[in-house]
Amino acid sequence: MQVEVVVVGGGPAGSAAAVTLARGGRSVLVIDKAHFPRDKCCGDGLTTMALRLGEHLGLDPEPLADWQPVDSAVVHSPSGRTIRFPLPSGDGSYAAVVPRMSYDAALLDLARSAGAEVREGCSFTSIGLLSEGAELMVEGLGEVRASNVVAADGMWSPVRRALGLPDREGRGEWLAFRQYVSGAGPQAADLHVWFEADLLPGYAWSFPLPDGRANVGLGVLRGRSGPGGLTGRLAAGLLDRPALRAVLGEGATAEDRMSAWPIPAHLDRAVLAHGPVLFAGDAAAATDALTGEGIGQALLTGILAGEAVLAGGPPAGIGRRYDKSVRHHLLADHRMSVVLQHILFRPLGARAALRMAAVSSWSRRNFARWMFEDYQRALVATPRRWRRGALGRPGAYLRRLEG
Ligand SMILES: Cc1cc2nc3c(=O)[nH]c(=O)nc-3n(C[C@H](O)[C@H](O)[C@H](O)COP(=O)(O)OP(=O)(O)OC[C@H]3O[C@@H](n4cnc5c(N)ncnc54)[C@H](O)[C@@H]3O)c2cc1C
Repeated sequence: MQVEVVVVGGGPAGSAAAVTLARGGRSVLVIDKAHFPRDKCCGDGLTTMALRLGEHLGLDPEPLADWQPVDSAVVHSPSGRTIRFPLPSGDGSYAAVVPRMSYDAALLDLARSAGAEVREGCSFTSIGLLSEGAELMVEGLGEVRASNVVAADGMWSPVRRALGLPDREGRGEWLAFRQYVSGAGPQAADLHVWFEADLLPGYAWSFPLPDGRANVGLGVLRGRSGPGGLTGRLAAGLLDRPALRAVLGEGATAEDRMSAWPIPAHLDRAVLAHGPVLFAGDAAAATDALTGEGIGQALLTGILAGEAVLAGGPPAGIGRRYDKSVRHHLLADHRMSVVLQHILFRPLGARAALRMAAVSSWSRRNFARWMFEDYQRALVATPRRWRRGALGRPGAYLRRLEG
């Protein structure tokens, strides 16, 4: 089989790349080892960046099962103080929650309707670089030749491994746990985040879903002090923590087994391009180092990978163009997130930061917008981005809400 571009992985990064490439007139094959709809261990939270990029790709949230708009975040500080951070209202969507089961399948459908060929249940196994392009072995398809490859194959990136590329941070900077819950009480209709002292450097969340359900989880930066297995034990006791129970209610029960997955957040050291291969999403370790959120970054890097290929030229030029554009869009924010990690994930730092963020209704509103990636993490430190309106852009799907 011969195509212009093979996209390995049909998650948000792969679908975004495939939509961009197919709309640009390239023949695109997307392969994924899973059959969709498939689950992905995740908090299911969409930031403003993810919503805007989803809208740009043409994703309609209306028909998506269990789409839950979010209008504020309730943050619980290490001292036990609770602060509500409101998002702007009547000005588009700034945050939402949607199970990855329906979200990823809808994105992959967009790639299909844009003209990409999607083959599910087809696992990438090996790759050989050619003078022009690459040759991949794919279970269920056999040999596939392509001029360009987008490796959007997630945290463990089998393509990166098959190419023998080093990844010293291979275990991921974060370890995160997810538990779906049913029968939650009315307080769980809000989005909650807990910075409890024994969870630092990390946080717990309860993200609302329709019909009394919630996505509850814990994300912890690796390298925390304490005996091995402590993070696992904290996760196992998550639903029994008094602060979480008070929000979830006594009737809330776990729907299934808790799942766990690492999150890579070292964009500054990741290999973004190798020969005709561009790495996107978790395969490029592009998640936000402060929160572990990576859906928006996966969509962005997927789109940038598609655009770099569409601009044409030899593989080395495409690789350089892609590397440069990813760094231009995300590197300053990544560095800012790493700095803030050190401040916010200490009890005193978290307390002080939340106290400052809660000083006025203006600071509360803007902190919420910053947390949900409406403003870039490093906006304040990157003057090239200071434009009129940088602090007052509408959210996503404004036209749909107006219509
Ligand atoms: C517990 C947890 C909570 C999180 N919460 C949030 C959150 O609330 N908000 C947020 O924005 N981010 C969150 N993240 C991060 C987010 O899940 C990832 O950043 C995002 O899924 C990255 O998308 P991706 O397309 O790069 O990779 P993935 O979504 O992982 O997709 C990779 C695809 O590659 C396929 N694949 C893998 N190997 C092969 C192979 N050999 N052949 C073919 N296909 C293959 C897989 O089947 C998969 O479909 C969370 C992560 C975790 C672990």
